[in-house]
Amino acid sequence: MKPLSAGLLAAWLRHFAAAVTAAEPLLTDLDRRIGDADHGLNLNRGLAAVAALDPDACASARDYANRAAMALVSGVGGAAGPLYGTFLLRLARALPPDGAITAAEWSAALRAGVAGLVERGRAEPGDKTMLDALVPALDAFDAAPAGTDPFAAAAAAAAAGRDATVDLVARKGRASYLGERSRGIADPGATSAALLVASAAATLS
Ligand code: ADP
Ligand code: MG
Repeated sequence: MKPLSAGLLAAWLRHFAAAVTAAEPLLTDLDRRIGDADHGLNLNRGLAAVAALDPDACASARDYANRAAMALVSGVGGAAGPLYGTFLLRLARALPPDGAITAAEWSAALRAGVAGLVERGRAEPGDKTMLDALVPALDAFDAAPAGTDPFAAAAAAAAAGRDATVDLVARKGRASYLGERSRGIADPGATSAALLVASAAATLS
């Protein structure tokens, strides 16, 4: 594990911002089919504000994560901004001080972040939301055998969780208004969440 710092978290979220920019047409298209076509746009705008934060001006990883959360909550319309913002806010609170960080400490912080997202959105796995990528990712992270990269295991599980949302009927958010007609399309939020975890694997381990 790389040592924890504001710069490390900035590398993660800047990687995510670039991935969302590259995937914006896909995210927009998915949300056009089962939502209101703004997921890519919303997230891209918020993450541009996050990417512009200067980690050198932050006192710690916690401080950086708090500021990034604020940028997402205030800069992103729709459901996803506040949800990702809450994830970062709770993650920030659960992070250890800067410096050496273990896989177990990462697991606890990421779980706290996802627990915050669950509290805010009141969704469960199977509802066809970002949780369908994030919850399997957490479980795979914890199940990764010693000596293997838990972030890589998490990224693979997040991608599989995203793909599994195709067959689900949405029970939360805008897509739930479509009922059965939401089946057959991957959830936009699960698709962006899989990018978040892939970016974690590319930067944090
Ligand atoms: P909006 O639905 O307000 O237009 P976005 O398009 O930015 O917001 O985000 C839509 C995504 O948000 C969905 O694909 C879903 O993954 C996620 N989402 C919606 N409601 C919830 C919820 N209650 N809990 C978790 N995730 C949710
Ligand atoms: Mg939308």
